Amino acid sequence: MRPFVLSLFLGILFLTGSLQVQAQIFPKIIKKDRSDTIQPAPRKNIELGGFDQSAFLRELTSRTDSLLFKNEVDLSRPKSIVDDSQDFMIWAPTNKLVRVSEQILIDSIWVTAYEHYEPWDSKKIDIYDFDPVTYQDTVNLRLYDSFFGYDWKMPLDKTPVTSRFGFRWGRRHLGTDLDLITRDPVYAAFDGIVRIRSYNRYGFGYYLVLRHKNGLETVYGHLSKFLVEVGQEVKAGEQIAKGGNTGRSTGSHLHYELRYRGIAFNPEIVYDFDNYDIKSEYLEITPETFGYIAKARAATYHRVRRGETLGAISRRYRVPISQITRLSGISSRSILRIGQRLRIQ
Ligand SMILES: [Zn+2]
Repeated sequence: MRPFVLSLFLGILFLTGSLQVQAQIFPKIIKKDRSDTIQPAPRKNIELGGFDQSAFLRELTSRTDSLLFKNEVDLSRPKSIVDDSQDFMIWAPTNKLVRVSEQILIDSIWVTAYEHYEPWDSKKIDIYDFDPVTYQDTVNLRLYDSFFGYDWKMPLDKTPVTSRFGFRWGRRHLGTDLDLITRDPVYAAFDGIVRIRSYNRYGFGYYLVLRHKNGLETVYGHLSKFLVEVGQEVKAGEQIAKGGNTGRSTGSHLHYELRYRGIAFNPEIVYDFDNYDIKSEYLEITPETFGYIAKARAATYHRVRRGETLGAISRRYRVPISQITRLSGISSRSILRIGQRLRIQ
């Protein structure tokens, strides 16, 4: 029975188009230590009509929502031990049940668990080899689900924005800066697991990366104190750190990022920071979400005409002079030649 159920389940995954072609590599995931209290429903005499779907799914959630790792797997190692054991596969009593559950939530629970737990690295943020410029799909992620107890929380008690996502002074700013006082509590935005706890002197300072069940990752930078370990499971709203001013920072704040498969996108797609709120239960990830990268890659050039100055060119393209000089490899005091080609962006 088991191999049949397994192949059926994998078949469904395959139909959803979500199964990666590459070999599945993921750390061994074990369920909460409650398995002894959960008795699968009897295999026989299950009738769809009389079947309590929500109870079944709630029970299933209690087994799958906490994706814990076995103690002997050292998640602080850059590449963790892999295991293809199937013993955490759900037990699906009948074909019909699988179909019913698929329509509801099993997809989002399991598919993401498989897909997104696959690469694991406790040192590098972008490990997914995902090219947002050739990305064509639309992925719908569920951000929270009150019924199943997946919650969301703001990363701070208050969220005044001091710097937005985007380009400033020719540098990419891949998150939203939120004002805080050093040692203010920083909270996990969603349920998840701590993937990175690290230090970068020239960037984030002390920072954490959390991986969430739906595959999103959140980054918390410039922290003053860590309160969690790599591999630790956290709930939304749990305090994970204290805010600060470490790394490349000119005043205490939280640098907060959202990433999908390693690539940052504007957190304000998800949050209304001014109103201390999340915008929707769902997040749709489309090529547009990463549009800023394609835009940045498309270089713009300008050929200098008689009488033009750097100031005039910078005003015309609405970019800083420093960006033109940096991209063109010239100094701001350089004399422009007629016909000279300058890179604008
Ligand atoms: Zn920042």
